[in-house]
Amino acid sequence: MDAETVKRWLNEAAASVREQRDYLTQLDAAIGDADHGTNMDRGFTAVVEKLDGLEGPPGKLLTTAGSTLVSTVGGASGPLWGTALRRAGRALGDADDFDGSELAEALDAALAGIVELGAAQEGDKTMVDALAPAVRMLRSRLDAGSPLGEALAEARAAGEEGMRATTPLQASKGRASYLGERSIGHQDPGATSTALIIAALERSVAVSP
Ligand code: ADP
Ligand code: MG
Repeated sequence: MDAETVKRWLNEAAASVREQRDYLTQLDAAIGDADHGTNMDRGFTAVVEKLDGLEGPPGKLLTTAGSTLVSTVGGASGPLWGTALRRAGRALGDADDFDGSELAEALDAALAGIVELGAAQEGDKTMVDALAPAVRMLRSRLDAGSPLGEALAEARAAGEEGMRATTPLQASKGRASYLGERSIGHQDPGATSTALIIAALERSVAVSP
């Protein structure tokens, strides 16, 4: 995998977020302020514009994408995903390519960045509930010797399961936490967009040469 893989990932993520924008906003209307779809769409559209024609190692593309998200998205999700991509980029360093294990390390770093900034644990009904199980599954499947494509497919499924499991939870971080018990019974918007971003990664790696 190389810079093209990263560009494909971010382009796929942007397209998917665009397609699901209204759904993400609807989810945020139930337990937040109805801007998650617009926030993520604005941010990823800016990322795609920024990366268009930009050359450089995959790590550099990710740090640039992260900074773009931070500077274009006002909501909580911008700084959180922005930090995640910057950390992932920093983990990849200046290398021209990366393997499955390095990808898992980069995603680990991304998750650690989100947790450091937002202090959410699994079960708090946030994006962490989708990302953490996905990262864990990727690492465990790779350690067990699964090919990267299969490991990513299982990671994506684990992320989607984590996303669905946010529905019965009561939020204890972010805007949704202001609702207390009324946040129960709704799927978390950030966990939902996170599942889309992981699925985009799976697809973009699947077509890597
Ligand atoms: P805002 O809440 O500022 O309107 P968004 O609507 O774009 O921002 O994003 C809301 C999502 O951000 C939530 O659904 C949740 O997944 C995520 N989120 C909020 N606070 C945190 C946090 N402290 N840690 C991790 N994720 C969080
Ligand atoms: Mg919101």
